[in-house]
Amino acid sequence: MSKKYGVYICTGCGIGDALDLEGLSGVAGSYSMTAKTHEALCSEAGRQMIKDDMANDGVNTAVICACSPRVWKNEFNFGDDKITVRANVREGAVWSAEQPSEGRTAETIAEYTNELAQDYLRMACVQAQKMELPEPYKLETINKRILVMGGGIAGLTAAKEAAKAGCEVMLVEKEPQLGGKALGWRKQMPTKAPWTDLEEPTIQALVSAVTADPKITVKTATEVARIAGYPGDFQVTLKAAGTKSEWDAPAKVGVDEQDKIAKGQMEDPNAGLNSYMESNPDAEKVGAVVLATGWNPADVSEFEHLGFGKLANVVTNAQFEKLAKEGKVPANVAFVMSPGGEQHDKDFPYCNSVTSMVALKQAQYVRQDNADGKAYILYQHMRTPGNMEMFYKGAQNNDGIFLTKATVTGVAEEGGALVVQAKDTLLQENLELKVDMVVLAAGMVPTTSGAPTINLSYRQGPAFLDLELFDGYADSNFICFPYETRRTGVYACGGVRKATDMVETIDDACGAALKAIQCIESADRGVAVHPRSGDGSYPEFFFQRCTQCKRCTEECPFGALDDDAKGTPKPNPTRCRRCGTCMGACPERIISFKNYSIDMIGSMVKAVEVPDDDEDKLRIIAFVCENDAYPALDMAAMRKLGLNNLVRVIPVRCLGSVNMVWIKDALSSGMDGALLLGCKFGDDYQCHFVKGSELADKRMGNIGETLGSLGLEPERCGVRQVAISEWDTVPAVINEFVEEIKGLGPNPFKGF
Ligand code: SF4
Ligand code: SF4
Repeated sequence: MSKKYGVYICTGCGIGDALDLEGLSGVAGSYSMTAKTHEALCSEAGRQMIKDDMANDGVNTAVICACSPRVWKNEFNFGDDKITVRANVREGAVWSAEQPSEGRTAETIAEYTNELAQDYLRMACVQAQKMELPEPYKLETINKRILVMGGGIAGLTAAKEAAKAGCEVMLVEKEPQLGGKALGWRKQMPTKAPWTDLEEPTIQALVSAVTADPKITVKTATEVARIAGYPGDFQVTLKAAGTKSEWDAPAKVGVDEQDKIAKGQMEDPNAGLNSYMESNPDAEKVGAVVLATGWNPADVSEFEHLGFGKLANVVTNAQFEKLAKEGKVPANVAFVMSPGGEQHDKDFPYCNSVTSMVALKQAQYVRQDNADGKAYILYQHMRTPGNMEMFYKGAQNNDGIFLTKATVTGVAEEGGALVVQAKDTLLQENLELKVDMVVLAAGMVPTTSGAPTINLSYRQGPAFLDLELFDGYADSNFICFPYETRRTGVYACGGVRKATDMVETIDDACGAALKAIQCIESADRGVAVHPRSGDGSYPEFFFQRCTQCKRCTEECPFGALDDDAKGTPKPNPTRCRRCGTCMGACPERIISFKNYSIDMIGSMVKAVEVPDDDEDKLRIIAFVCENDAYPALDMAAMRKLGLNNLVRVIPVRCLGSVNMVWIKDALSSGMDGALLLGCKFGDDYQCHFVKGSELADKRMGNIGETLGSLGLEPERCGVRQVAISEWDTVPAVINEFVEEIKGLGPNPFKGF
């Protein structure tokens, strides 16, 4: 695209009062760009000024020198054929200026703030020069049918809702009939006021609605053997439930093995799978997948003192439901919610609010079926969220239901009855209960735990990766993106995503169905579905220089890259979430996006003016995650907290996209330090791209060693974790790093 630039400097929001406008215009001029000012660029008149320049003077690339790129996004979008770049001088410089203090006069601060703002404009001008318009990746064919895996409440609801929205659906259930676990329920928990009464199951009505829907094809006694392809064009191979197929348990191939396979030193254990899939005439075409395969009861046999597996009348909650449906409910039942024994305060594995509420439901069966029935609920944690608190209160008010916090120490058989021993009760008395049956609150283990339920024909293996982080739950970010798994186009709902009761499951299924539809529509438009919804860019590879090192393939959090027969990465753009992790990983620097590239960010780094004769003016580059840390910085600025004005911030899609060459660029251009601000990682990770910040931390560890060998202190590079809510502490985090750099002194290579 032949570009004509226009630089637009806003003087509103305090910008005009704080900054040297002539100086800013001079910066634009140094890039041969003409600058105009306006008192409020975001106003109708301000935007009209820009539109007029586009219409009359052919401007097609606008540099908006004003507020944060996080605000007025739509207002500064001038169409798909125009480029807009933002220089954040409002939050980034003016609003985040430090307050005058001892040794720092207002004049000094004004000088530093102007230097900062001018650097931001320099970076934006360079960004505008380097940025190209994205060209959306379009599939040759698009399949809009949705595959729903699982015929329980979640799957049935997802199928029904997707069909209601006009989509064709294929629903696959491994059992011979639809309905899932709900088929075995005697009653449902309350779904409406007064939230105390059990309800008749509605599962049959749901099954009937689905089977009667002409848009839904139901395949029972069927399993998914394999899913190949990508969003918009998945190929699904089915098999009869319980049978073996050649797709079962394909091997996961690690980086070392990939290398050996590529060099012909090892046979690919999965050779032929993908090519077979591509030519498999029986493969069914779908555009997206809803994963609703539910959960299995957790194993409780490890708690020997409770007698499960040894004593006939010690059963799980799932077994008790079956007995209750058959009308075999004894008169005296103890519901044990926690293992007790040595595990004092612990729950059974995978226990949750649903298992609490199931105990309350099943206690009612005891009362309904026996005039003198007594139900004892012994718990450590009773969880009844929302309106279900009324359900709990209803149980408390029932004369035959006894609830107490207690540690169960043993269950034994005596004279045909069971004796439950418990201590640490609310009454501070030890308990000995004589009952007919003991019911253990077995938790709900997602079907994705430990097994490749989804059977993907992907280079990174058939299952979702790293699920141990989430105890096997198929989710990529609980906090921000429910339903989204680590495989784009596959949306989880119900028990496979988290422990949900029926009402939550229905909500969940609607959400997953909507995401599946959004995914297909986004693939059709050639744009990202999430979290960068609508982004028309995608990674492009300059394969002539690819060394087939496979770092990109291995590090892509979403399995977007396969290999071709020679071991070269084979991109699947509709699987891609545009995080840039592959770009950050590539040592050859041959991966780039039209609007985000190694060259673009590297050039922005180099655009920062680094004074080489003023020891007070250290320069530190900060690559800041645009999802969490950058908003935290904006919020700090909005509250006028003051950010260190020696630091130059560049927002990045994810810390995973930070290529270490940018750090080298920064230090070799005389900068004194480089800071990466990203999301929390580890067990409670918050990274939108799963592990970008963790990868960046590892890479920075490596580059630290390289710097050491060059005579530069590794401490000049740092990674800090910032949550979006930590706007109040982020200035101190930055200051602390700056103080560390000051302690090291200026970069010894400055000026060389
Ligand atoms: S941009 Fe992210 S999702 Fe896309 S291929 Fe690269 S690493 Fe994978
Ligand atoms: S990281 Fe770069 S060099 Fe390595 S395989 Fe991927 S594209 Fe090729």
